[in-house]
Amino acid sequence: ATLAEMDGELVDCRRCPRLVEWRERVAVEKRAAFRDETYWGRPVPGFGPDYAALLIVGLAPAAHGGNRTGRMFTGDRSGDVLYAALHAVGLANQPTSIHIGDGLTLRGTRVTAPVHCAPPDNKPTPTERDTCRRWIDEELRLLSPTLRAVVVLGGFGWQALLPALADAGWPIPRPRPKFGHGAHVVLPASGSGHDLHLFGCFHVSQQNTFTGRLTPAMVEAVLSEAGRAAGL
Ligand code: SF4
Repeated sequence: ATLAEMDGELVDCRRCPRLVEWRERVAVEKRAAFRDETYWGRPVPGFGPDYAALLIVGLAPAAHGGNRTGRMFTGDRSGDVLYAALHAVGLANQPTSIHIGDGLTLRGTRVTAPVHCAPPDNKPTPTERDTCRRWIDEELRLLSPTLRAVVVLGGFGWQALLPALADAGWPIPRPRPKFGHGAHVVLPASGSGHDLHLFGCFHVSQQNTFTGRLTPAMVEAVLSEAGRAAGL
């Protein structure tokens, strides 16, 4: 299978009843500002080239962001911060991500999430996280030949990703690496593969960016170091 084929299957996934109900309800009720738009209302696939050397892992699509536009971190405040930073460090061709077809392309970088459907209050349950593991497992397997670095945005993604990385060929070191902003761990390959650089970054949510806990310069610093580690 290819990533495109995987994404083709992913967008039809209905394994989490609560999330299916929520993503579709939000798509019908809409936010007033977007009432003339047709919401995507389905699982949101990863975005970026399938030969990516750098993977950026968030939490889950936003109800009126990715769940509306159909592209990760697109059409919401979190995405405004993320793509502006990617552009600032030379990994995106433009600083904004408005909608599919807006011309945005990423250089050697793919953006995804451990949960592909928008959850109520941005909080997936542990069961939903575990159910969606099949997709991140498959994505990592398909990317593993070219993947050199991963940036995880927030503790939820970090917890979800470590076991998936272990299954993809990068066993979790002991003691288990802790999430933190600026965390940088090199995961040695288990077999004949290559090492993987794992970076932690606070999530680009408004909760962090509006309070100044996370500044654009902090995001750019992590992305630039990760880009270098990935050979980009
Ligand atoms: Fe499927 Fe993942 Fe969406 Fe659950 S969260 S319905 S597993 S795509």
